[in-house]
Amino acid sequence: MSGQLPTRPAISANLGQFLMARWQDILAGNGTLLVDGGTGSELRRRGMALDAAAWSGLASLTHYELLRTIHADYIAAGADVVTTNTFATTRFVLAATGHDAEFATINARAVAAAREAREARGREVAIAGSISCLPPRFDVHAYPHERAESAAYFELAETLAEAGVDCLALEMMQETRHAPLACEAARRTGLPFWIGVSCRSGAGGALVGFDFPLVPLTTCLDALLPFGPAAVAVMHTPIATIEPALHTIRARWAGIMGAYPEIGDGDPATPLSVSPIDFATDAETWRAAGARILGGCCGTTPDHVRALAARYGGNGIGPTSFGT
Ligand SMILES: [Zn+2]
Repeated sequence: MSGQLPTRPAISANLGQFLMARWQDILAGNGTLLVDGGTGSELRRRGMALDAAAWSGLASLTHYELLRTIHADYIAAGADVVTTNTFATTRFVLAATGHDAEFATINARAVAAAREAREARGREVAIAGSISCLPPRFDVHAYPHERAESAAYFELAETLAEAGVDCLALEMMQETRHAPLACEAARRTGLPFWIGVSCRSGAGGALVGFDFPLVPLTTCLDALLPFGPAAVAVMHTPIATIEPALHTIRARWAGIMGAYPEIGDGDPATPLSVSPIDFATDAETWRAAGARILGGCCGTTPDHVRALAARYGGNGIGPTSFGT
């Protein structure tokens, strides 16, 4: 399949160009682009039981209104970019739930939920299509053969592009066997994409893959940066690890950087581990380390994005008549 997608809605292509220009403005100036907070964890916090094999991947089938409301709440809180609930919707992950025949429907509805939220709000918000290398049932031994795995990332990337996302977000990139396949799929769509690396502090304080303690962050970056992302973000990473990870990225990457850490799993029985105010205060150190895209991952809520917007907002895309 070619990288160009003639069926992509024109308005989305315009927004993709707008987003790129906006990112360049941010780089040239001192602005901040706000991404949303957790989606899967927020679905859980609001009552959806997550699936053992596909986590929040079935939400667009089973909890469409809730999903749309969460996107709308993030837009209302000030997010300039919302991320689709497609972290766990590759064909091989859905197959583990028996829903692979509904691959197209699940992903089209996931993008539609974000687009409907944007249109209702009437702001020029970009929609990022999330792609991860999550294995079925969180089991790294359950990946399909490499050809099938690679084809699945292409299928998801092109499905998201055709459904009208403005850019792609590669999320939880943290090793060098699977992540390059997903990066190549994103690159081939021709859409701008960011690479979100996920890490933690390992033995001796070295930064390593969040779920892959034997893979240094530096090794992962060296494998993925050649794919030519529009930005590199450290995401789904503990707050304490964000700043050193940004320094590690900066040593290899002169372009736009972002940070959207995790603070929990959305378990409604567990109180927030980091308050929105403290989260926004912590973000000062991420900005000081060079991050110009800020947001949250698992455990963060619209209130966390609202706190970021109160502190760093006014530089984002802002209200327009788009979509009204
Ligand atoms: Zn996360």
